[in-house]
Amino acid sequence: MNVNDPASTFDYHKGVIPISSPTFGGNEERYVLECLRSGWISSKGEFVDRFESAFAALCGARHAVSCCNGTVALHAAMLGLGIGAGDEVIVPTLTFIASANTVVHCGATPVFVDSEPEGWNLDPRAVEAAITPRTRAIMAVHLYGQPADMAALRRIATRHRLLLIEDAAEAHGATIDGRRVGTFGDVAAFSFYGNKIVTCGEGGMVVTDDAALADRVRMLKGQGQDFQQRWRFPVIGYNYRMTNVQAAIGLAQLERFAWHLERREQVLRWYRERLRGVAAVRAQSAFPGSAPVPWLFSVVLEPGVAMARDPLMQRLAADGIETRPVFPPVHAQPCYEARAHGAFPVAENLGQRGLSLPTWSGLTEGDVTRVCQSLTRHLGARS
Ligand SMILES: *Cc1c(COP(=O)(O)O)cnc(C)c1O
Repeated sequence: MNVNDPASTFDYHKGVIPISSPTFGGNEERYVLECLRSGWISSKGEFVDRFESAFAALCGARHAVSCCNGTVALHAAMLGLGIGAGDEVIVPTLTFIASANTVVHCGATPVFVDSEPEGWNLDPRAVEAAITPRTRAIMAVHLYGQPADMAALRRIATRHRLLLIEDAAEAHGATIDGRRVGTFGDVAAFSFYGNKIVTCGEGGMVVTDDAALADRVRMLKGQGQDFQQRWRFPVIGYNYRMTNVQAAIGLAQLERFAWHLERREQVLRWYRERLRGVAAVRAQSAFPGSAPVPWLFSVVLEPGVAMARDPLMQRLAADGIETRPVFPPVHAQPCYEARAHGAFPVAENLGQRGLSLPTWSGLTEGDVTRVCQSLTRHLGARS
């Protein structure tokens, strides 16, 4: 597959610009073929170890433990920290639902907090206000690739003796003061779902500097088996293992990580140039010292813009442009509304008026121009 030919995706062939598409062009095919030809297609095989080492190196972390997806990576990470029944974990309501679900999977209770209006990440003041005697941990989510304010959250965690978890599923390679996200918390989890910055179809990774924690996660993800002594099971575990085939794709993606990031940053620059001076929309913004990675470039309609978000998305779709609403806040989902209390005006506004635009490594300048022209035309703004 030719990397310069993003028309390799089916929708793209039909003239639709998808919100996201995996982009291959490195060793993906070769490595997968190696798995098939060698017979190493389950969770043993050299690609698993190589992918883990390469990912730890990318983050600048000591340990990386692969899992079969990002959700279970987050679950295993929290289990490894000993989070369980009776504990509360502070979670932003503006996130993908898996962030909160995994707290429930641990038997703990998610306590939702609102976001701050610039970076859209959990608001440290709201976090502080949500702490109770049962609070055990804070989960920071680096939303759409924008780092959360880890210095502020670390200060709060230290003051109240709380664990700090990073859901870095959307932020591979993002930095704060030159340091990669995934290294600020006690543990972090990443996702390699098909639309993420690095993909292996489905996949996840737990990242930590704590060797004992990495060992616990490794044990939990492998049925609780003692990896020093086979057929001995000290704890009741899970099968959360990644396959060698997944790792083969992931490793090939990582080998070209710099290229993927450069392409995504170029896409972001094209968006910023074209939307500069368009008063109807405001993009998510970065705080000083943070270097976000563009996972999904997302904007919110400013107050007073007459066009509502959903009809705007329909018009863009009619122009062959796929977009996505910003995550609907988790506290208002049917499965959570009975447990959530409090007011979340920032998250609710972003959830109602925010949208994500096509962002992936294979987009061309012409694609971004088409998206921005369609957007500004329907908003009645100048392009
Ligand atoms: C994608 C995502 C996850 C879950 O990852 P999967 O690999 O799809 O299970 C968790 N949290 C956030 C914020 C995500 O975007």
